Amino acid sequence: MLELDAITAGYDPRTPVFRGASLTVGPGEAVGLLGPSGCGKSTLARVAALLHRPDAGRVVVDGRQVRGWRHRAPRELRTAIGVVFQQPRLSADPRLRLRDLIAEPLRATGRRDEAETRTPELAATVGLTDDLLGRRPHEVSDGQLQRACLARALSLRPRWLVCDEMTAMLDASTTAALVAAVETYRREHGAGLLAVGHDRVLLERWCDRTVQWADCAPGGV
Ligand code: ADP
Ligand code: ADP
Repeated sequence: MLELDAITAGYDPRTPVFRGASLTVGPGEAVGLLGPSGCGKSTLARVAALLHRPDAGRVVVDGRQVRGWRHRAPRELRTAIGVVFQQPRLSADPRLRLRDLIAEPLRATGRRDEAETRTPELAATVGLTDDLLGRRPHEVSDGQLQRACLARALSLRPRWLVCDEMTAMLDASTTAALVAAVETYRREHGAGLLAVGHDRVLLERWCDRTVQWADCAPGGV
């Protein structure tokens, strides 16, 4: 389970963006979180991905409560969760070629050989052709870059995926391809998904269930 329990979070502890938000994703389950712009979905997604420390509440990953993330959450928990953001250009180092962008988590966790062998395979699972792997982010489209960001997020074989408006900048066919790649990965690895967005039609089609922000964070601020 990926459990968010009574989370209060924001960017200034005196004025949190929201209080008491709770949401649980079961093993292998896909949950869509829907809500209006600015309510705090991305902030909660970053808490779920262990990238943003909440001011109060508990995050529990596979039965382990996340502790000691004064600076960063423990690596073995962070790497259990793959994350894709709305704007690939903000999360992709502009100097890296797509192949290195995809290989980075494997290399950084000391698996250099695996990085070499698995990068082409990861690229293929997201529909990236080999000729694109030598390009840098500014030399590819948003959709191609987002495919690389998804491949990177899948590289450490996470048990959980957090997709924050992953397809909001993309056209319909690229959206369908990325959703299909996520679903293929989830089927093969039994991974759970938290998909955050504002597109009800997409999330209802994609996910096992959807949650409205007002039901997730009934306390508001
Ligand atoms: P949503 O994803 O639902 O649009 P966000 O979580 O992005 O909402 O934002 C919630 C609130 O937090 C907004 O008022 C936004 O301006 C604010 N916010 C988001 N990121 C930051 C940040 N890095 N620093 C300060 N405020 C932020
Ligand atoms: P360090 O602790 O050495 O600063 P990290 O443990 O944060 O590095 O991350 C190691 C590598 O794994 C980095 O390249 C980072 O981009 C990648 N990484 C970390 N968390 C995730 C994640 N949830 N999904 C995909 N890649 C990740």
